[in-house]
Amino acid sequence: MTESSLPSLSAAGAVGPTAGGGRPRVLSGMRPTGKLHLGNYMGALANWVKLQDQYECYFFIADWHALTSDYADPSRIKLNTLDLALDFLAAGLNPEKSTIFIQSHVPQHAELNLLLGMITPLGWLERVPTYKEQQENLSGKDLTNFGFLGYPVLMASDILLYQTQFVPVGQDQTAHVELTREVARRFNSMYKNRLDELKRPTVFPEPEALYTPTPKVPGTDGRKMSKSYGNTIGLTEAESFTVTKIGNMSTNGQRIRQTDVGDPDLCPVGDLHKVFSSADVLAETQQGCRAASLRCADCKDSAINSVRNVIDPFYEKRMEMESNIGQTWEMLRASSAKAAKRAEQTMVEVREVFDLSHELGEVKHYFHAKDRIWLYSFDSLLFDGNWENKTEAEQKKSIRTFWIQRVKRDVHLKFEANRIFDSVERELEEPAITPKGKRVFIDSSCIDFVESPNPVWHFAIPQKSFEVWALLNIEMNRQSLKGNGYVIPQKIFSQPFAKAKKSLKKDEKIPVSLRKDGERFLLSIHGSEPVDITELRSNYEPLK
Ligand code: SF4
Repeated sequence: MTESSLPSLSAAGAVGPTAGGGRPRVLSGMRPTGKLHLGNYMGALANWVKLQDQYECYFFIADWHALTSDYADPSRIKLNTLDLALDFLAAGLNPEKSTIFIQSHVPQHAELNLLLGMITPLGWLERVPTYKEQQENLSGKDLTNFGFLGYPVLMASDILLYQTQFVPVGQDQTAHVELTREVARRFNSMYKNRLDELKRPTVFPEPEALYTPTPKVPGTDGRKMSKSYGNTIGLTEAESFTVTKIGNMSTNGQRIRQTDVGDPDLCPVGDLHKVFSSADVLAETQQGCRAASLRCADCKDSAINSVRNVIDPFYEKRMEMESNIGQTWEMLRASSAKAAKRAEQTMVEVREVFDLSHELGEVKHYFHAKDRIWLYSFDSLLFDGNWENKTEAEQKKSIRTFWIQRVKRDVHLKFEANRIFDSVERELEEPAITPKGKRVFIDSSCIDFVESPNPVWHFAIPQKSFEVWALLNIEMNRQSLKGNGYVIPQKIFSQPFAKAKKSLKKDEKIPVSLRKDGERFLLSIHGSEPVDITELRSNYEPLK
């Protein structure tokens, strides 16, 4: 990130597809570091103004971003925010066309930043080129803080929060957009099953970078214009400042005697003309410089005129707005509320994916169950008041019921809770069906772990066609129950299952055992070699 800009907008090329059928959405922001200068204007703001008619634009003041590096002295954040807003408006951003808002007034940015922070590997952040560069360049600041390392995630959140399609950037910002695309991709792939369940192809479209060449604006010392060099010409500064600054500009050692010819390509004033003067004025000054027919003082006056032609209207508009600062603040509040409304639309989807929805949703089915078990700890089975007095068959049924609850919750089996429990009452072998129509056989086996250091759990599986086995092994002692769930896909058991069927009578159940061997769990299906299924423990993937 450069001194004040987040990925900054450039003039747009072809208009791409839209998310909602309207204009494509564009987002960009700037850190509030005070008033803007001509370099900021030509590098970003001038393009933003052009984009307003072509795109649905969101432009924001990134006050939280400012704190990632300027946290030690936040005393000017609000003042700088207002300064930036006034310059935005003075230079032609129009709140009737664009949503111009303050980042910290839209708390959804922080919420999404937190959630995307969960899925962003640290290595991605450490590799962002500006991370090391800025730490070296801003050596007077301690940038070893968590907020600074994480700012690319906040930036990704800014962009993805509005399901933005285009992020206009300068070439030096490419890495940020690329990281945003990677975060979106990771989210969409990590939660693909969840998105499928919610019938959403994606929450975050991958944003694209818009590149447009931006003219290099020379500072008054000939270097790139930058606040850190103290060589800026303010976008809304009074004329007297511009006159003094340009009047004092060096000619790069040229034309010490005005009778000497010069080369405008080697002079910062000549560079100013290239950016701000009309074609006629440019040709005239270049020719006059090379022929020594134009005095440097006159050339500079002409450059002052060209620059003032651009910024005079901005200066006047800003003066007018400064006389009623409350109006600008109200605009920012209203626009921020509008941005928050749009942001909330995305967050509703995001929260659903993370199962943090503010709606009760499908979970209510769980509490509709007749035989509900509230806790996910197996200990709850011991505290149902009657465990000791239950017969072995009753205990087994309780465990199976518990297990079905757990599987149902974890894999979102779509049938009604009552149907599950009816089926448990009626016939324990009736399969559960997953949302994709897979038939699931559920069974549990319980042993006393204390007496069996290398325990074996036994199951009996009917010779019916199931695509998934869900097996639960319970270790029990007087104090507690412990258990592991194994969801076993058909490819693991199909061959030994077929072999066992051939060797058994038609109605005979197939003996299956699960043996603990050290830290490993081995599954043996009648007459076949054991298979290590340790990796399948509590893995519900095959059911999704
Ligand atoms: S005439 Fe203008 S461009 Fe040429 S050296 Fe003087 S100030 Fe620079």
